Amino acid sequence: VFDVLVVGGGPAGASAAIYAARKGLNTGVVAERFGGQVADTLGIENFISVQKTEGPKLVAQLEEHVNQYGVDVMKNQRAAAINKGNTLDITLENGAVLKAKSVVLATGARWRSMNVPGEAEYKGKGVAYCPHCDGPLFKGKPVAVIGGGNSGIEAAIDLANIVEHVTVLEFADTLRADEVLIKKANSLANVTIIKNAQTTEVVGDGNKVTGINYTDRVSGESHSLALAGIFVQIGLVPNTEWLKASDVALSRFGEIEIDSKGATSLAGVYAAGDATTTPFKQIIIAMGGGATASLGAFDYLIRQGQD
Ligand code: FAD
Repeated sequence: VFDVLVVGGGPAGASAAIYAARKGLNTGVVAERFGGQVADTLGIENFISVQKTEGPKLVAQLEEHVNQYGVDVMKNQRAAAINKGNTLDITLENGAVLKAKSVVLATGARWRSMNVPGEAEYKGKGVAYCPHCDGPLFKGKPVAVIGGGNSGIEAAIDLANIVEHVTVLEFADTLRADEVLIKKANSLANVTIIKNAQTTEVVGDGNKVTGINYTDRVSGESHSLALAGIFVQIGLVPNTEWLKASDVALSRFGEIEIDSKGATSLAGVYAAGDATTTPFKQIIIAMGGGATASLGAFDYLIRQGQD
């Protein structure tokens, strides 16, 4: 029986594991893929105190740090269910059951992609998902934002300060963002919003993005835009489908609801990072959340009866 079992091996999970192990707790990590989204990231320039690093390098350092504490890391395993009896039981997809006194859920999230030709090919070569992370790479250049919801319009306002011009492409005939954001975006001279635009292809020169093609859904006409960058903002989906049947409460967006100590609605179960209701999704925030969740779990464990 683990004292703390962490589900997920991204920055939130790694941080939770280190904080738990440093309390002398018997700690395990079960992760489908150690490193999470960081493994898919090229340059990282906002991990404070490290001016510039690369995703795979940071993942290797995270793993080394976790291993230093003798944490039991179980990779290539997916959690499929969580149940509470005498212990908290995590059932894996392979049927095995891991038992723990407390659990930290850190299964992260995934960006919804456009699924058009060229998108996967130019990921990290102009196709980006995080304006906070990659906005400065496109300083003085034209970019597009795909999606006119809150995250898309926020991204457009944010990027307008940095880039030459922002074109927002929205599939529907209306924007789903808050009115105040739409007003702000409309007031910016270097932001253009195009509705009824169905993106059809990311265009590049073999090395990097050079533009995008879209179809006007009303006229049926095809258009091309010359661009250096494309920010896809059509949703961040938490990896919490496996929790829907559990006693862990999720928000209407599927995010794990947590309090200020990282506690979920199920006693002994804590959560951290992009899978939770934490409003901003960044590496440094996920790591802070992982630390909070483990300290929360420690607080919980020292209040339990001896067995
Ligand atoms: P994740 O990193 O998503 O990790 C989730 C972990 O859970 C993984 O190990 C995964 O395999 C595992 N998992 C999922 N489901 C299960 C399951 N059922 N069972 C077991 N394991 C499971 N942030 C920055 O601060 N700076 C940047 O420059 C930056 N650039 C980015 C670039 C890209 C392309 C992307 C996609 C994201 C970027 N981000 C950046 C965001 C940052 O990567 C995330 O905020 C951060 O990784 C979230 O950490 P996490 O641990 O919560 O989740």
